[in-house]
Amino acid sequence: MSGVGAGVGAGAAVKAGAGVAAEVAAGFAALYGAAPEGVWAAPGRVNLIGEYTDFNEGFVLPLALPHTAVAAVSRRDDGVLRLHSADVEGGVVRVDVDTLAPGSVEGWAAYPAGVVWALRESGHAVGGVDVHLVSTVPTGAGLSSSAALEVVTAVALDELFGLGLSRPEIAVLAQRAENGFVGVPCGVMDQMASACGTEGHALYLDTRDLAYRQVPFDLAAVGLRLLVVDTRVKHALGDGAYAERRAGCEAGARALGVRALRDVSAAQLPDLLGRLSDETVRRYVRHVVSDNGRVERVIGLLDSGDVRGVGAVLTEGHASLRDDLRVSCEELDLAVAAATAAGALGARMTGGGFGGSAVVLVEEGAADAVAAAVDKAFGEAGLDAPRIFTAVPSAGARRVG
Ligand code: ADP
Ligand code: MG
Repeated sequence: MSGVGAGVGAGAAVKAGAGVAAEVAAGFAALYGAAPEGVWAAPGRVNLIGEYTDFNEGFVLPLALPHTAVAAVSRRDDGVLRLHSADVEGGVVRVDVDTLAPGSVEGWAAYPAGVVWALRESGHAVGGVDVHLVSTVPTGAGLSSSAALEVVTAVALDELFGLGLSRPEIAVLAQRAENGFVGVPCGVMDQMASACGTEGHALYLDTRDLAYRQVPFDLAAVGLRLLVVDTRVKHALGDGAYAERRAGCEAGARALGVRALRDVSAAQLPDLLGRLSDETVRRYVRHVVSDNGRVERVIGLLDSGDVRGVGAVLTEGHASLRDDLRVSCEELDLAVAAATAAGALGARMTGGGFGGSAVVLVEEGAADAVAAAVDKAFGEAGLDAPRIFTAVPSAGARRVG
């Protein structure tokens, strides 16, 4: 395999610098016959800890990736929306903004169209636009290519139509697009990470009130690395499972008489679990409450400078996702087992599970050996090689051209 040295998979090729912006602007001009009014970028994200906690009003700790969706956009005066992605077949999708309603746009275009719908539903005066986009965020890998698409559309429209939205407002509108227009019942973590991420930091987010703190996360400065292992598998099982976990968590909150599982502390857990008669609900509650606790433990470790101590918490979080929430899969378990056996400080699946990606915290000097061990384990199991890259905490959504 190729190594995971700085730049491999996380360097110039995925960064939305001036060169990329000019390329996307040129693509826009070739497609629509005029230069765009502007070019914007919004990143994917990887979540360090706090999984399936966001729809329980809990804590999460994602970081924005250097991988971005880049969109060139211009306003139109006839209320028509034209959407084009260089990454999918099928050409330009054209729809009248007045006819936008959930179910009216199919496929990938529902994400940007949903943002226009959500803005208009929220009372913002947004008209037609031309959009041409290119993304380096791997799709369906648990790295939030969908949020990148929504947020880049939202920041472009915010600026072009002078809406003056705050970053959290943009994130909530993007989530509304995905929930209400695309029909995916996701929480708000992905959109918040894409909208509010900051270079060199992780985003410590309270999903109850969207209060957040930028937590310095400069692993290179302490001789560490965070690897992302994209297993490149996505099991179909995941779709229904997400809604089922969500329903189970809501049932748990009701049974415990709390607004959301966020209102239960890890210390209360042993006493409260006995009150839950349903074994499945009990496991889901134990995962969510303990993972919320793990976010706070990781914050404590980062604040005190014990970054290496984070590793064990990640691995513990994986066991909880595997055994209690049961959203892992063979490939993710293998990535975590192979990485930790090869000397990683810790590892866990990240994102919704059933495929997608794992994160691995590793000493700088051991990164290549750990990546090679994961690669080898996949080969020996007869699986396709995973895609492994270094997660460099990068900037959130921004104008790039
Ligand atoms: P994730 O957000 O983890 O990557 P999702 O299933 O939530 O996975 O979102 C993936 C979907 O987002 C794709 O199936 C596609 O519809 C849309 N999408 C993502 N990136 C692009 C892109 N570059 N062009 C067009 N559609 C995209
Ligand atoms: Mg998504």
